[in-house]
Amino acid sequence: MKSWTSIADNRLLVDEFRQRLAAARLRLARLAAITDADLETLAVRESREAAEDAAVGTVGDLLARLQGQERLELEEIEAAQERLEAGEYGVCEGCQKPISLGRLRTAPAARICTLCHVKAEALE
Ligand SMILES: [Zn+2]
Repeated sequence: MKSWTSIADNRLLVDEFRQRLAAARLRLARLAAITDADLETLAVRESREAAEDAAVGTVGDLLARLQGQERLELEEIEAAQERLEAGEYGVCEGCQKPISLGRLRTAPAARICTLCHVKAEALE
């Protein structure tokens, strides 16, 4: 018996994680925002759900300023967005089993399940 609903098969979950990843991306953009104009850009972007216009590029400009740990975090988020759109999201890269929803809700860009994460930490 399949006790797990694959995220890719569940429209509501795909939508949920699409929003969570987009929010995580905007949170990083906010870290890079320095001037009032930057913050204005983000306010506009957040108030328009489906803005596909120039504002998207401006958020990209903010994200391009990120460095170090924050840049890595952004790359992980964007990789997760690609997995989500490819229908591969939420599967552990270590053991190929589903990553729990609880873990994904805490860390939406997670590539591995809690068990593999603990094992990896123990090896370090
Ligand atoms: Zn695993």
